[in-house]
Amino acid sequence: MFQKILIANRGEIALRILRACKELGISTVAVHSTADADAMHVRLADESVCIGPPPSRDSYLNIHQILAACEITGADAVHPGYGFLSENAKFAEILAAHNLTFIGPSAEHIRIMGDKIEAKRTAKRLGIPVVPGSEGAVQEEHEAKRVAAEIGYPVLIKASAGGGGRGMKVARSEADLAAALSTARSEAGAAFGDDAVYIEKYLEKPRHIEVQVMGDGAGNAIHLGERDCSLQRRHQKVWEEANSPALNPEQRLRIGKIVAKAAAGLGYSGAGTVEFLYENGEFYFIEMNTRLQVEHPVTEAITGIDLVHEQIRVASGSGLSLTQEEVRFQGHAIECRINAEDPYTFVPSPGTITHFHTPGGLGVRVDSGVYSGYRIPPYYDSLIGKLIVHGRNRVECMMRLRRALDEFVVDGINSTLPLFRELVGNIDVANGDYDIHWLENYLAESR
Ligand code: ADP
Repeated sequence: MFQKILIANRGEIALRILRACKELGISTVAVHSTADADAMHVRLADESVCIGPPPSRDSYLNIHQILAACEITGADAVHPGYGFLSENAKFAEILAAHNLTFIGPSAEHIRIMGDKIEAKRTAKRLGIPVVPGSEGAVQEEHEAKRVAAEIGYPVLIKASAGGGGRGMKVARSEADLAAALSTARSEAGAAFGDDAVYIEKYLEKPRHIEVQVMGDGAGNAIHLGERDCSLQRRHQKVWEEANSPALNPEQRLRIGKIVAKAAAGLGYSGAGTVEFLYENGEFYFIEMNTRLQVEHPVTEAITGIDLVHEQIRVASGSGLSLTQEEVRFQGHAIECRINAEDPYTFVPSPGTITHFHTPGGLGVRVDSGVYSGYRIPPYYDSLIGKLIVHGRNRVECMMRLRRALDEFVVDGINSTLPLFRELVGNIDVANGDYDIHWLENYLAESR
């Protein structure tokens, strides 16, 4: 087992990882920018190292500084959290070259899944259902026309190097295709420095359902059920739940088994999430994230398994602590992402939190790195906390969520709390009756 882990992240996730390390008796090193000198992850870590000025590229993304911090403190492993360097294959390789363990999958697997065309090809080969579309990149317009005619309109042009929903264009008919192809390609070139694009069937009203998987890197993998993250705004998840209100136990088991088998076949190591669009009873692979996700606590709530403990165990060579047969799903969990943003326009609202009070009680968890008097720096993402509520079933979970949201106080800045107080009382949300466009339509109609 590791003696000392350096946490190459900030905010609630740095704290989340720190807690797991403390439970396992592992010393912790926090790294921080000058803007985060007063942050909770710095205060609670055993040691901390300032790695640069506020901009992420000079601090949390600065590989040299992070390596130096490992060297100074004698850390033997690095947990990257999510975002920042978590899906940077080069970072994983550089750590390995310095005899440091990257707590995550192999650089090769990060690389495969970071290239959407390669990821889709790999998923298909491993028996995961994919969205019908082109085999690989599409160069010429006539080729695009042929593929689109085969799969049927509407189609979606996507960037192979894509991320954050950028470089995607819908073509509803052949008349739109040439324009969509060239716009997608130039957007992709500008955003990612790679203009390779491919074509997929555009699904009109899908849900976003993702499966959590954990592999031991030696050919064994387990699935931990799914999360429904269909409530999104501009492709950003806002509310996540487990289980999905749209699946029955057989569907859950079927897709879970497919994903676990694929991860085992790949020899995958650590935590991963396979994301699907789900429409008319069918799953369609869109991507695999080779890291811990923001919404992992809903899975922890219904399984009772600490995913960060498992990540650390696997990375240290101790294997998974349980088998698939030992995984039990209990009740229902919902997570709300509390952002420092206007609840309706989503304009960021940095500043000082004058008062911060979190709810408590049975089945309530708050993961947050902020406190009363904390000043939110303007340099990073706007997540200030996650409220995760667990109940014996979805009805109890919603009752508890409503109560917990009422107790939550964030003063001094705008937060997305008022939006969640509305959503928890909405009839479609209560019925679990929503797709990936529901929230944007709701926001457009209700204002
Ligand atoms: P990114 O890496 O840019 O986030 P994804 O492939 O994960 O790209 O897709 C982002 C979002 O775009 C999905 O959550 C979904 O809302 C939408 N999307 C992607 N592919 C399709 C598709 N074939 N049909 C309809 N919507 C899609």
